[in-house]
Amino acid sequence: MLVNDNFRQLPVSYLFSEVARKISVYKEENPGKEIIRMDIGDVTRPLFPCVIKAMHEGVDELSKATTFHGYGPEQGYLFLRDAIASHDYQSRGIDISASDIFVSDGAKSDLGNLGDIYSKECKVAVMNPAYPVYVDDNVIDGRAGSLCAGRWSNLVYLDCNPENHFMPNLPQEHVDVIFLCFPNNPTGESITRDELQKWVDYARDNDSLIIYDSAYESFVRNPDSVRSIYELDGAKKVAIEVRSYSKTAGFTGLRCGYTVVPRELKGKYADGSDVSLNTLWNRRQTTKFNGASYIAQKGAAAIYTPEGISSVKAATDYYLGNAAIIKQAFIQAGYKAFGGEDSPYVWVYAGEGVDSWGLFDQLLRVCGFSTTPGSGFGTKGDGYVRLTGFNSRENTEKAMLALLNREKD
Ligand code: PLP
Repeated sequence: MLVNDNFRQLPVSYLFSEVARKISVYKEENPGKEIIRMDIGDVTRPLFPCVIKAMHEGVDELSKATTFHGYGPEQGYLFLRDAIASHDYQSRGIDISASDIFVSDGAKSDLGNLGDIYSKECKVAVMNPAYPVYVDDNVIDGRAGSLCAGRWSNLVYLDCNPENHFMPNLPQEHVDVIFLCFPNNPTGESITRDELQKWVDYARDNDSLIIYDSAYESFVRNPDSVRSIYELDGAKKVAIEVRSYSKTAGFTGLRCGYTVVPRELKGKYADGSDVSLNTLWNRRQTTKFNGASYIAQKGAAAIYTPEGISSVKAATDYYLGNAAIIKQAFIQAGYKAFGGEDSPYVWVYAGEGVDSWGLFDQLLRVCGFSTTPGSGFGTKGDGYVRLTGFNSRENTEKAMLALLNREKD
C-alpha cells in the first residue's frame, strides 16, 4: 500500500520539543526556580458562565427523548448561523447571511480542509512569518514543491518585516490562493482597510482566492483596523473568512468556529466553467463532516447574548492588558517590540546578530520566562521571539519585572 509521499517531505517540527527540552534542562540546573510561560499559545481563563449554562441546557435536552438531537445539519444549526450573521456581520453593516456560514469544530481543520476545493495546481502564497498550518497543509496536499533553505520551491512567500511594517507587499507573480491572517499570529500586527483593499483588488484582478484567517478579530480595538475582510468593497467575490471561538471565548478545548464562503464567490473548473465555492464547500462538508457538537454550538450561541458579548470584551481586554504590559516592558528594556495592540501577541526583535534561540536562551536563563522562537514561524521569523498575553496578570507582571530588573543590573 502506497502512502501519501508528501508526508515524507514534511520536516519534523523540533520547535516545541526543543523549547520543552531547554526548559527541563533549566529546571534541572535551577531546582525550585519557577519558570513563567510567556510562550503560551492557549487561553487560560475559563468558559463564561453563560456558555456553561447554555451547554447544561443542551445536555438536559439530549437527556430526554422529546428534546433529543442526533445528527445536526452539517453546516451548523440555524440558531447559531443566524446569530453569527446578525451579530458578527449584519450589525456591522456587512451583508452576510446564514447560508454563507458553515459552523466547524475550529479554524485549524477548516484551514486545511479548504485544500479539498482548490486545485492541486494552484500557486499558493503565504506570509512569512506565518501560523505554520498554512504551509504544512499545502505540503501534505502536494502543492509546496521541495524544501530548500527553509523555503518551499512552489510556494510564494510574502515577507513581513519592520521595513514594510509587517504588511506584505503584493506578489510580483500571479498567485491563485493567498493566505492572509490579521490580527497576525505571530507578529501581532493588524491591518487597516486601505492596506487590505489592495489585496482584495489584487485578488479581483488576478482571479485569486484569499483565505482570510481572522481567528483574532475579537482583539481588534483600533477603529481603523479590519475585523472582517467583508468590510471591504468586492471582498465577497474573492475571499473566504475563517473564524474561531478559541481565543475569543476560551473554546480551545471545547472546539467550535466557523467559515464564511459567500455565495457570490466563484471558481473555475478545468474546462473554464464557473462554479460556486459555497456549493463546493457544502458538498465537501456534507461528504466529510457531520457537524460540530450540538452542545458546543449551544455554548457558542450564548456568546451572542448580552452577557456573552460583555464576557468576550472582558476576557479579550484582560489578555490585551497583559500584551500591553509585555510590549511596554520590552520597549522600556531597550528592545523593538511589535504587535500587542489589536492582538494578544507581542513580537520582539532580538537585536543585531542575535537569533531567535539566542534571545530565547537569554530570557529563560536571566529572567526565568519562556518565549516562542520566531524561527518556528518561517525564515523571516528568525531574529524574533513571540510572547503572548495568555498567562495571568500576576505572572505577566512578575515576568516583566524580571526583565526590567535585569536591565537595571
Ligand atoms: N489560526 C490562527 C492564526 C491561530 O493562531 C490558531 C490557533 O492558535 C488557529 C487558527 C486555530 O484555531 P482553532 O483553535 O479554532 O483551531
